[in-house]
Amino acid sequence: MVKAAVVRPDSDGYVDVKDVELRPIKDNEALVKVEYCGLCHTDLHVASGDFGKVPGRIIGHEGVGRVTQLGKDVDNLKIGDRVSIAWFYSADGTCKYCVTGNETLCRNVKNAGFTVDGAMAEECIVDAKYAVKVPEELDPVQATSLTCAGVTTYKALKEGDTKPGEWVEVVGAGGLGNLAVQLAKNVFGAKVVVTDGDPKKLQAAKDNGTDLVVNRHDDDATEQIIKGTNGGVHDAIVTAVSAPAFTNAVNSLEPNGTLVAVALPKGDMALNIDKTVLDGIKVAGSLVGTRQDLRETFDFGAAGDLKPIVRTDKLENINKVIDEMKAGKIVGRVVFDFTGNEK
Ligand code: NAD
Ligand code: ZN
Repeated sequence: MVKAAVVRPDSDGYVDVKDVELRPIKDNEALVKVEYCGLCHTDLHVASGDFGKVPGRIIGHEGVGRVTQLGKDVDNLKIGDRVSIAWFYSADGTCKYCVTGNETLCRNVKNAGFTVDGAMAEECIVDAKYAVKVPEELDPVQATSLTCAGVTTYKALKEGDTKPGEWVEVVGAGGLGNLAVQLAKNVFGAKVVVTDGDPKKLQAAKDNGTDLVVNRHDDDATEQIIKGTNGGVHDAIVTAVSAPAFTNAVNSLEPNGTLVAVALPKGDMALNIDKTVLDGIKVAGSLVGTRQDLRETFDFGAAGDLKPIVRTDKLENINKVIDEMKAGKIVGRVVFDFTGNEK
């Protein structure tokens, strides 16, 4: 039996912390003793049934832990290796998406903490070929944030064709946003404007090198961005769980700009047709990242370019932390500690 956080029978947005029996591993799988797992806002969507109800599912896809058992066909992992458990859990490996660098779009994809049991548990089963190793020099608590928030924003910045010296807007300075800022500055060499409604998060974004911060509650927020960036941003990465945030982001784009949709609020985004056509606006959806994207993200972390804002907590407190996240009160990420020696 392992202690795990599972989606409640009525998918009410919270989880039950209880003992769960994991099935035996298959030949291509490994068992991982989880050390840490971050709570991503996607876990809240799963717990609420936003993508379809999955009662009883163990949540968690920002997991890091060490391999304790190997299936007999596994040749790419060793006992003791530190691996990650990401939303992109596995795919068929043969379809047109898998073989063209778009494996996260595979129609047979499995997602940790949604379609298969995830990492918010003392132990977790992984598909060995899909469990990306975590460099030993990377702090494991910080590595959890790179496993989803980091790789997702790295991919999104690539989708936005983020360029050195050009402006990028990061809409929403939460778990994803804090990594988007650091990647945009330290890896892409871009100039960054951040919008959020929380002064503490805006301050944290400043501390991470953001060039311009704008409080979304200001009546003239869009004008501040247009003025401060001298004409608008080249791309906008929308991580705010709010449909109107998408509309506002379109209005901050310069001609030929790209809106990169990352957050998953319910509903539709309004897109002004005149602006889209006359300004040549592009819109791209962006979903997590490939295994290679994750390896590269870990390498940026190991090189010291990314320092996720994290704090640890006990699993027993997870529903309180869910409330904090719903209220938009978390600066960075809360990471649950399964090592038993909480820092
Ligand atoms: P989070 O709760 O940590 O951060 C969201 C931030 O948005 C908060 O700081 C909040 O203050 C801010 N915000 C809310 N409304 C805003 C608005 N109108 N304008 C500006 N900021 C606003 O959440 P997170 O873990 O960073 O996840 C964000 C979203 O991204 C979620 O919907 C999550 O499911 C989604 N997500 C998508 C992918 C993907 O692959 N596309 C991957 C991970 C997470
Ligand atoms: Zn996530």
